Amino acid sequence: MIQGIAVLGSTGSIGEQTLNVVRNYPEHYRIECLTSNNRWERLVAQAKELQPDSVVIANKALYPLVKDALKDEPIKVYAGEESLSQIVSGDSIDVVVNALVGYAGLAPTLSSLEAKKKLALANKESLVVAGDLVMQLSAQNSAPIIPIDSEHSAIFQCLVGEHSPIYKILLTASGGPFRNTPIDGFEDITVEQALNHPNWVMGAKITIDSATMLNKGFEAIEAKWLFDVTAEQIEIVVHPQSVIHSMVEFDDGAIKAQLGVPDMHLPIQYALTFPYRMPLHQPRFSFKDYSELTFAEPNLECFPALRLALESLERGGSSCCTLNAANEVAVQAFLDKKIGFTDISKVLEYALSNSDWSAKSTQSEYAICDAQGREIANNYIK
Ligand code: NDP
Ligand code: MG
Repeated sequence: MIQGIAVLGSTGSIGEQTLNVVRNYPEHYRIECLTSNNRWERLVAQAKELQPDSVVIANKALYPLVKDALKDEPIKVYAGEESLSQIVSGDSIDVVVNALVGYAGLAPTLSSLEAKKKLALANKESLVVAGDLVMQLSAQNSAPIIPIDSEHSAIFQCLVGEHSPIYKILLTASGGPFRNTPIDGFEDITVEQALNHPNWVMGAKITIDSATMLNKGFEAIEAKWLFDVTAEQIEIVVHPQSVIHSMVEFDDGAIKAQLGVPDMHLPIQYALTFPYRMPLHQPRFSFKDYSELTFAEPNLECFPALRLALESLERGGSSCCTLNAANEVAVQAFLDKKIGFTDISKVLEYALSNSDWSAKSTQSEYAICDAQGREIANNYIK
């Protein structure tokens, strides 16, 4: 049976790689929907090639351009972020790949699960902001979530066939470009240096999150929700080669790991093919190429954003939503060269200590919390 796929964020790093996977297997997958925010010309080119049923341009101002460019194609064109949530419930869609970046991914995640679709989830912010709601909806509606984030895909793969509980998750981290930077060198880090990740080519936002190591904190939060573990059961291991994508330890002391070259095609393809595997023509890992694989503890003094994420994970409630909101503002301000690298964690700390906290929130309460986190962060930056 051919599966219909909606790729939300098809013009981004994960989105483009998802389309590569789908192009290799036209007998298994058909693209039903593509979406972008600003890169409308790329969206149009993808649509002309892959002939989806519909496209969504989230930025409404660009709708006339997309509509006009696709006027001779049998493709429906919608605009606005609300359309992202509406489009996923279409009958012809079996799988939703959520490759959006940031808070914008939450509503489509919830709508996909409400519509009982299988969700291949790259948008980690959905789980950071509202992991409780996401997992509850997934369980209620028997709508599976298959992680795309490489660490979580690795953990997921380690758990296939296991019937025993997780003792501990060993969440690996490359350490980013500033792994060896002395603590007094962080003040002078430039945008260009922070965008230069040693192992992965990714969208700008996650690349900055990797440089501050907040990304690893987000991934710990993501792991808590996906695999139902406590903060104490998650250990972050700095592994600069990014070959072991994460590990699971069991009660008897056995540790299972998933290895591969740092390339997102594999976790993306696995999210689509699970429980099966299919050939993937990408570079492969060979032990001969690596004389050593190394491991270390993360340095929380140099990476205060990671410390704040781990504290937010412990505190729970709306903390992680606030953290995410403040971070989206701070990362954009850093990319716009309005604040320095070390200011990012100061913005996070300020927002966390000045926003309201609640133990449990609904979707609309999370929206209020997100707005408040952004406002506090913006005021601090001003
Ligand atoms: P990109 O920035 O490369 O792509 C983001 C996509 O989302 C683009 O298609 C973009 O459109 C669209 N988009 C951005 N903002 C909005 C919005 N407000 N409304 C609607 N659409 C929007 O990000 P990545 O592909 O790097 O990351 C996507 C997600 O996957 C993130 O959550 C990230 O943390 C996660 N992830 C990414 C990895 C990677 O290797 N890249 C690895 C693991 C996880 P446009 O192109 O028009 O701007
Ligand atoms: Mg990751």
